[in-house]
Amino acid sequence: MAGFAINTTIALWAFYTIIPNLELLIWAAAAYTISGVVGLRALRRRPRKSSKTQSPWRTTTRPWQFAILVALPWSILASSYTGSLDSKSDIILVVLAVGMAASGSVLIAPIPSAAILYMSVIIVPLAFRCMFLIGDGTYIELGLLLVSYWFFLLGLIATTARFFAERIRTMAKLEQSLIDLSKAHRETELAAMTDGLTGLANRRAFIERLKISESNIGPRKFAVIYMDLDRFKHANDALGHHVGDELLRTVGCRIQRAVNQSSIVARIGGDEFAVLLEDATDRSVAEALAERLLSCLSEPIVIEGHTIDIGVSIGVAISDPGGLAGRDILKQADIAMYAAKVEHKGICFFDPQMQRRVDEQSEIEMGLRTAIDRGELVVHYQPICKLSSNTAVGCEALVRWVRPDGTICEPDTFLPVAESMGLTSTIDRWVMQKACEQALEWPAHISVSVNFTAAHIMSKDVVAQAAQVLRETGLEPHRLQIEITETSLLKHTVEVAEIIRDLKFLGISIALDDFGTGYSSLSHLVSLSVDRIKVDRLFVSELDKADKKELVIKAIVQLARGLGADVVAEGIETEDQLLRVRACGVALGQGFFLSEPMSGPEATRWLNEQVVTPRQERCG
Ligand code: C2E
Ligand code: CA
Ligand code: CA
Repeated sequence: MAGFAINTTIALWAFYTIIPNLELLIWAAAAYTISGVVGLRALRRRPRKSSKTQSPWRTTTRPWQFAILVALPWSILASSYTGSLDSKSDIILVVLAVGMAASGSVLIAPIPSAAILYMSVIIVPLAFRCMFLIGDGTYIELGLLLVSYWFFLLGLIATTARFFAERIRTMAKLEQSLIDLSKAHRETELAAMTDGLTGLANRRAFIERLKISESNIGPRKFAVIYMDLDRFKHANDALGHHVGDELLRTVGCRIQRAVNQSSIVARIGGDEFAVLLEDATDRSVAEALAERLLSCLSEPIVIEGHTIDIGVSIGVAISDPGGLAGRDILKQADIAMYAAKVEHKGICFFDPQMQRRVDEQSEIEMGLRTAIDRGELVVHYQPICKLSSNTAVGCEALVRWVRPDGTICEPDTFLPVAESMGLTSTIDRWVMQKACEQALEWPAHISVSVNFTAAHIMSKDVVAQAAQVLRETGLEPHRLQIEITETSLLKHTVEVAEIIRDLKFLGISIALDDFGTGYSSLSHLVSLSVDRIKVDRLFVSELDKADKKELVIKAIVQLARGLGADVVAEGIETEDQLLRVRACGVALGQGFFLSEPMSGPEATRWLNEQVVTPRQERCG
């Protein structure tokens, strides 16, 4: 509209003395007003960023009216005065009018109909006046020229409109692509943060959320509740993965229903879920929620007609304002959950003691890998004696770990860790080798017993290994006894029975260790045909109490007699206990009262002394 106003000023200046002043001033006033009004409207309707390719004209609601309004002053001026002025002024007037028509129509070309209307309003009446009203030869030529300009401008408008339309389409496409791209980006982000199966947040999202809580929470506390399903694997294996998936979805829904809106629920692993309670004002709030979760997940779940009692172990950890990072609180909740699982407690709150146990365990894990190679494992031997004479008939090999700092780690501490690392077979085989070598230094009637874990007895080359050790060391097979615990028989009774048969075929004898602590049935015992039953020290240590332990020991002696096995009472610590087990009919015993476990050379000395000077009978 600035161009419009400038041209109005030029016209005012050019025709000031030529056109009657009043008429020219009225015209100029009208032209300025129109340029002002249209300019302001166009400014007010300036398109937003997203549609900057559009002409302001396009955004007006009535483009045609505006086209006519803007064209009218030039149409009126040119078609009223052309031919009535001097020839120089006529030319200026026609040039001004044609210039306005051309520039304006290009400007409004994005709305072709308005552009055509605009330039027609200026050119058509002027051409008509030149050709028909004035009728003079030069003006007829001028009129024809104007008609040809009209066609030329029509072409220009069409081309420009096409160009604009094309540009708008391209920009619109670009804009759509950008919208699609950002939508896809949002969807990908969401998918990366969501667990596909349950629709809950996943581990990544949960950790992100923990970070936010940790930075926003100020002096308040937040709690993490970590849940692990107890029997998911069993259900998944037994009933199929589709049932397993449905199970996880149902568990997710139940958890979601049990928590309030502001808590975050996530599936952070296979059958592990977590809840972030952002406002755990005190322990009781987290405790109440954990109990609610325990009770709702203890309800059986019915899927495809199967009633599944899934069970859950829950660990809870609460943040300290300004204390550990969210990720560490999650770790603490995980540790507490593990404690709940191991201790069958349902819910456990984290306490620093648990952390110490975990640290200890990982320290053991790190050291154990290299313990054998570095010669840190040693074998001690505890005599098994005839209770009638206290003379040894054999020794049990017991492994110890002498750590680099000189402290001794007991097998009860490191063997469970070794088991979780799959190292017990290696250890058991190594102990067997050492024990057989050691036994060669003992009197020929002394046997050596080695302990086998459940994992080792089930390992496929256990029989071949035993045969190889006997071959390599040259120990007579009847001097080697293998002790297996009652619990290792529970799962794979048939397979273990076969292995026992093969070991016995080699001439090795078998002892059933810790008897009375497991649940082996009598029929198992009969089918296994063991050579020795070792009564667990629990029965021996409580013999002095007025309960039925004596009866149990007597029953075991009877049973062993029937099976052709001998009986060893473990853990005899006092003379009184020795007398009592002997009174129950037990022939053999082991325990600190008779001898503590000794190093290899000590055991050899102890045994040799016995042969030279048989120990004086201490009891009866
Ligand atoms: P276990 O087979 O029942 O071995 C007897 C355990 O009782 C030994 O503990 C022994 O030191 C202890 N003991 C002996 N007499 C008494 C007593 O009068 N009172 C008390 N309180 N304890 C007594 P240790 O050496 O700590 O071994 C613990 C367990 O670790 C063993 O129990 C056995 O199950 C396992 N173990 C030891 N060495 C090996 C091994 O080389 N391989 C495998 N697989 N397990 C082993
Ligand atoms: Ca044993
Ligand atoms: Ca035992």
